[in-house]
Amino acid sequence: MLKTMEPRWREISWEQAFHGASTAVARVLEKALDGNDLDFEQGLILSRVEGDDLVALVKVADEIRKRAVGDHVTYVVNRNINFTNICIVGCAFCGFSRGPNSPDAYFHSTEAVVAKSVEAVERGATEVCIQGGLPRDLDGHFYASLLRAIKSRLPELHIHAYSPMEITYGVEKTGMPLPDYLRMLKEAGLGSIPGTAAEILDDKVRRELSPNKLKVRQWINIIRTAHALGIPTTSTIMYGHTELPDHWVRHLLLLREIQKETGGFTEFVPLGFIHSLTRLFRSGHAREGSSFREDLVVHALARLLLNRYIPNIQVSWVKLGFGGALACLEAGANDFGGTLMEESISKTAGARFGEYVSPGEIRAIIRTIGRTPAERTTTYQIRKIFEEANHEERLPMERMPVLSSGNPPSGGLDCQ
Ligand code: SF4
Repeated sequence: MLKTMEPRWREISWEQAFHGASTAVARVLEKALDGNDLDFEQGLILSRVEGDDLVALVKVADEIRKRAVGDHVTYVVNRNINFTNICIVGCAFCGFSRGPNSPDAYFHSTEAVVAKSVEAVERGATEVCIQGGLPRDLDGHFYASLLRAIKSRLPELHIHAYSPMEITYGVEKTGMPLPDYLRMLKEAGLGSIPGTAAEILDDKVRRELSPNKLKVRQWINIIRTAHALGIPTTSTIMYGHTELPDHWVRHLLLLREIQKETGGFTEFVPLGFIHSLTRLFRSGHAREGSSFREDLVVHALARLLLNRYIPNIQVSWVKLGFGGALACLEAGANDFGGTLMEESISKTAGARFGEYVSPGEIRAIIRTIGRTPAERTTTYQIRKIFEEANHEERLPMERMPVLSSGNPPSGGLDCQ
């Protein structure tokens, strides 16, 4: 299937789509339209939709998005810095990590990361997003030192850094209690934490994907502790590998429960599995990344299950391609993510995207679906609404074919 919205979908209203749905699906969609929380069984019904029911889900999610957050599509000007690809964890879905003796292993010096941050700010970035692998001999205080080095040069820059897996590693290496460790990172300049390393929040699935990775309770503990200390985080899911639709629903409901308690999630980002260079796929244990139907369902389901609690649903253009990203923006999502400038993790795992899209290109892409682009900060304060197009806005022509067709890239690890 083409990874774009079928034109006929655009021509019908959400009411028409709703009336075309089966009784069971229409009943659940009506509940969502009335502003009610959906439960597991209702989420499960939506997670399995096809045909007219799928069209109804997508159109209703789009309508609920419009009512909740309007027609702006936000984005952030940022740079991803993956400071090392050396990692001992060995996740089967990861095509990014390398052993220390691999010819393409790297570890950027602190000076190099600071220089990349300075360059990002000079190009208009308000955020750097920093994540890396877990090298065996890493000093547990390295994460704080890196924050201090960047902040001493760029005190205004928002640093969005360190997955819960890296936080776990830092705690282990230093022997510090988690709250003290997070407090130290905050004092060193940590602004927010990517809610990556979530994959699927189910220990059985996690054992298949990455037995050495942190457990569900550890992920939740880090997130809750960060929120309690006033450090916001994003939230993510990785889908399109070995999981089933009921895992999506449980994962979303778990995030909703945490958010009800803490209010610390800024956004939810579905991340499709990039399969091609991963051990998980080569060993025959995973499917070939997500289908277009799955991309639409996961984004729409997120809108319906999280809407009142996590109103910002982000598309990952790195994973979806531009066509897929636009389709998901018409299926309940409202944020385009960041300019990135450098995103080596998905790229190494086989994604075709992941270098840099300028703010002008992002705005031009957003306008193709009739929505208004708005630049935001990491924590969703609006910096500028671009009501009118300007001379900086042009579509990235060399990549334009993916706006109308193309197979999706799929999976990996991402930072937002
Ligand atoms: S996903 Fe992260 S923790 Fe897992 S192997 Fe890759 S770099 Fe290491």
